[in-house]
Amino acid sequence: MATHALLQRLRRNGALERLDVTVIGEEPRPCYDRVNLTSCFGGVPPDDLLLSPVEWYRENGVRLRTGVRATGIDRSRRAVSTDPHGEIRYDHLVLATGSRPFVPPIDGVDLPGVFVYRTIDDIEAIRQHAGICRTAAVLGGGLLGLEAGKALYNLSLQAHVVEVAPGLMPRQLNAEAADLLREEVESLGVSVHLLRRASRLEQDGAKVVVHFARHDPLSVDMVVISAGIRPRDELARDAGLEVGERGGVAVSGALQTSDPRVWAVGECASVDNELFGLVGPCYEMAEALADNLAAMTQGNPMSARFHSGASASRLKLMGVDVSTLGKPIGEAAAASVLVRRGDGYCRTLMVERGRVVGAIGVGDWPERERLSGLIAANRRVSQRQLRRFQRTGAVWSASEGASVMEWPAAATVCSCLGVTRGDLTDALQAGAGTPEQLAESTGASTVCGSCRNLLCALCDQPEVAVGAKGRGALLGASVFAALVTPVLMAYRPSRFADTVQSAWRRVDFLWQDDVAKQVTGYTLLAISLLALLLSLRKRLTRFRLGDFNLWRGVHGVLGAGTLVGFVVHTGMSLGHNFTFALGSAFLLLNLLGAATGVAASMESRLTGRWGRSLRAWRPRLTRAHIWLFWPLPALVLFHIISVYYY
Ligand SMILES: Cc1cc2nc3c(=O)[nH]c(=O)nc-3n(C[C@H](O)[C@H](O)[C@H](O)COP(=O)(O)OP(=O)(O)OC[C@H]3O[C@@H](n4cnc5c(N)ncnc54)[C@H](O)[C@@H]3O)c2cc1C
Repeated sequence: MATHALLQRLRRNGALERLDVTVIGEEPRPCYDRVNLTSCFGGVPPDDLLLSPVEWYRENGVRLRTGVRATGIDRSRRAVSTDPHGEIRYDHLVLATGSRPFVPPIDGVDLPGVFVYRTIDDIEAIRQHAGICRTAAVLGGGLLGLEAGKALYNLSLQAHVVEVAPGLMPRQLNAEAADLLREEVESLGVSVHLLRRASRLEQDGAKVVVHFARHDPLSVDMVVISAGIRPRDELARDAGLEVGERGGVAVSGALQTSDPRVWAVGECASVDNELFGLVGPCYEMAEALADNLAAMTQGNPMSARFHSGASASRLKLMGVDVSTLGKPIGEAAAASVLVRRGDGYCRTLMVERGRVVGAIGVGDWPERERLSGLIAANRRVSQRQLRRFQRTGAVWSASEGASVMEWPAAATVCSCLGVTRGDLTDALQAGAGTPEQLAESTGASTVCGSCRNLLCALCDQPEVAVGAKGRGALLGASVFAALVTPVLMAYRPSRFADTVQSAWRRVDFLWQDDVAKQVTGYTLLAISLLALLLSLRKRLTRFRLGDFNLWRGVHGVLGAGTLVGFVVHTGMSLGHNFTFALGSAFLLLNLLGAATGVAASMESRLTGRWGRSLRAWRPRLTRAHIWLFWPLPALVLFHIISVYYY
């Protein structure tokens, strides 16, 4: 399957035209949809599973060698030996050999009536044999074991699924989710036997008897072994290529093996010693490799990388929806695990430092896509949302559920540039179909980028991780300013008593001494000018140096710093007449800046009504913040002149 994804991407990025490609496959058919193999039991002809017809390869200049097995790689001569096609030379070689079923080393696995479950030929053999059977056992209660169990059940056999672990799908599911899955599977009439390790298989007439270490034997008409998979890395091993700790051809993020002319993708590849048994990551690898090969053929640097991080899978097992998102349960040891079991569903969240890092669902889960975006964007969830999840099984309330598509046309989406949902819909109707095109035609998301995922939602594309540099600093500084400014506005200081002064050696020296006052005053002015300069990063569209969010964070911190400067310079006294006007305008400017900062740092964290209100209010607060700034230069100038003059 990875080979087909690779060819498709090479065709799309134009590299297939420039390359002379030969595909070698030992199976008698070209690439087919292994994921839907089970449908063959229901009468779907094998040819319907082909991912592309044979003509497709011809039309795209791909030489197809089916029924041909690669038997060795001579890396020094850059040649692959094949059976029965002789030697094939290469400039670059891609290994996409997939996996083989793991067959436990016990007696009887080669008896008649014992099968594995990986290829169309396996299915044909199982189907033919099942015609004379009434009972069957599947050894293995993982993804493929349950698929096989379902297939046998569909063939009207009485099926038993035998699993060595305490629950079904032990690699993916926690105990509660596995319990629900078992209940659902058993309600279909399939028997599940947990904590049973088969010790040997024995022929008894037409029957196969499965013996267990500590339980009664199980006598059935046929057995399907589905005890896991192992990467097919034998070609790579024999050729002296590096392999991963758990097997598999070791590759870098660029999918390159220890030989720069040999690459590997799919289930046979090991990235950072991790192996992949689902088709999603195999396709991602294939696409990254295709982009790198395309770049290489044009003499460009290879920049595409496969990231093994968050993965998502959604399987329909015996009619039951099973979803896993983000980190597998075994890799989230530090996470707190929240489980909600409801009517016909069991949902689990793994939460690490306020972020959902993984999720497992058995049964219906309407929030699945949204959670997937949340995990991919590495966004925080609030304690309130987690409590709601434990109470109701939903992370978001109904009012938070409204997608950006349902927002009113006048609702602000990009609060930096005041772009509304209506503006974006117009752009969509005018032909902008991707977040990038929307950004280009409306400007939305080009300043702070916090609304990027709303654009993704409008284009029906998955969310992306949005940079959050400086947002924490902005929020901290804004909250500080919001708390301190009202105190400074309300507080009226009185002179220190002489006794205090002599004890503390003149604490009011800073705002009584002329030289000290000048030093603190000009320092305050310098900090204010610096903060002003940084805000130009937003207004001057040509000035694109550095990350906007970082600049804005620094602007907020400097703004909060001017409050400290204000206290040091004035001793918290607002003075009289023009000095009072200057002090009041300065504090009001800070207060509005603080409110804008809180809104800017919170709007992308909040969804629903609150998020929308903040997006609507932020441009107004920003405008008021800017208007209030304008009288300040005149007031400051007058203040300086009056100090020297009088
Ligand atoms: C029954 C079944 C159900 C599945 N259901 C799901 C599902 O619901 N969701 C999901 O995400 N994944 C599912 N999978 C897994 C998914 O099919 C695999 O992840 C995917 O096929 C891996 O693609 P690949 O190209 O790496 O390997 P493969 O598709 O196995 O392709 C490798 C090919 O290389 C050939 N080959 C190997 N060695 C040689 C050699 N020396 N010479 C020539 N040819 C060779 C093999 O014969 C094979 O045809 C399922 C798998 C099975 C078997």
